[in-house]
Amino acid sequence: MDFTYTETQDMIRDTLSRFLADTYDFETRQKFINGDTGRDPAIWTALAQDLGMLGAAFSEEQGGLGGGALENAIIMEELGKVIAIEPYLPTVVIAGGALKAVGGAQADAMIPEIIAGNAIVAFAYAEPQGRYDLANLRTTAKKDGAGYVLNGHKSTVYAAPWASHLLVTARTGRNQRDKDGVSLFLIDANLAGIVRRDYPTVDGSRASEIYFENVAIPGDALLGGEGTGLPLIEQIVDEATVAVCAEATGVMQKLHEGTLEYTQQRKQFGLPIAKFQVLQHRMVDMFMEVEQARSMTVMGTLKLDLPANERMAAVSACKSKVARGAKFVGQNAIQTHGGIGITQELAIGHYFKRATMIEGQFGSADYHLDRYERIALAD
Ligand SMILES: Cc1cc2nc3c(=O)[nH]c(=O)nc-3n(C[C@H](O)[C@H](O)[C@H](O)COP(=O)(O)OP(=O)(O)OC[C@H]3O[C@@H](n4cnc5c(N)ncnc54)[C@H](O)[C@@H]3O)c2cc1C
Repeated sequence: MDFTYTETQDMIRDTLSRFLADTYDFETRQKFINGDTGRDPAIWTALAQDLGMLGAAFSEEQGGLGGGALENAIIMEELGKVIAIEPYLPTVVIAGGALKAVGGAQADAMIPEIIAGNAIVAFAYAEPQGRYDLANLRTTAKKDGAGYVLNGHKSTVYAAPWASHLLVTARTGRNQRDKDGVSLFLIDANLAGIVRRDYPTVDGSRASEIYFENVAIPGDALLGGEGTGLPLIEQIVDEATVAVCAEATGVMQKLHEGTLEYTQQRKQFGLPIAKFQVLQHRMVDMFMEVEQARSMTVMGTLKLDLPANERMAAVSACKSKVARGAKFVGQNAIQTHGGIGITQELAIGHYFKRATMIEGQFGSADYHLDRYERIALAD
């Protein structure tokens, strides 16, 4: 199998990496996340308009660069290296993925807005009782004339305070955990009846609890079929899962590099602690986890187009490995730094926090091992 990147893919990585080196050093990121809104909108505009980065994963007919999941993975890995809080995952990977899958007028209208940097979409799917079950929904969308009326509560909606649109999962029929009766809607984030409670997340982003109180939404907000949306939701969540694994690879690489560098500076008994064999072994173990995470992410990315069961098995194998690797690398980075590893001033603790959140995002290692077993080992 040929793992060589194309010229365009190399160009995307190099351009983004140079841009982030100039604009997203650790101190600047701290200024963004500690500011009132938690971000600098100029970065998103530059990613869209100066770099064309938000179009990398869309087809040329849609105004993009003709890429797909691999381009998403390349971009997510670079964003991970600077623990960027930019809403690329919900806007391009998740909402963009849903729009590409359904096509038609909604895609024609919305994808250019995403590519231009005018639209930010937050993915409102998780509910307090739902765990990782995408069909466990209490939020309802009841038919009302040509449209629907939305009621319910979505939890920890990343990037919602910045969003122009919300991608919402809701029940249009059947009962709370049924696989049928689930639908996906793309709606304006500022409709009457949407109530948000915003807060900073532990990994430097912003999120919201969102309450839908009799929100009237138009009929054309429905993406895909009414009541048959679960396979589409599972597909976009799998794409997102692999994308956070790519981000994790970038985060883990920086945790490893930062720790290696620290062991070369910190002296004990007149020697850098990097000279001690036990720490050298630890550095090698961390390096192996980074490389395995990278390989598993490539595998998961390349299998996203397979039939649902094969795709799910590959994504679960990828996420369970990456989640364990992120935990191992993160914990060893902190342990090796000693006390300063958990200070606000040093980047390493912030990388650790993002690695920790990624561990559980879209399913923990245990959840994905279980899903892998159910799918891959089924008769
Ligand atoms: C939450 C918290 C609260 C704290 N509160 C206090 C407090 O109230 N009062 C106080 O005085 N201190 C406090 N500390 C500091 C704490 O005692 C030190 O952080 C701890 O002893 C580790 O020392 P260090 O940070 O200098 O790490 P280091 O000694 O630099 O250790 C860094 C890494 O190098 C390894 N290492 C060090 N020497 C060797 C060696 N010779 N061979 C092989 N490996 C080695 C260590 O195992 C570790 O993995 C606190 C720390 C934390 C995290």
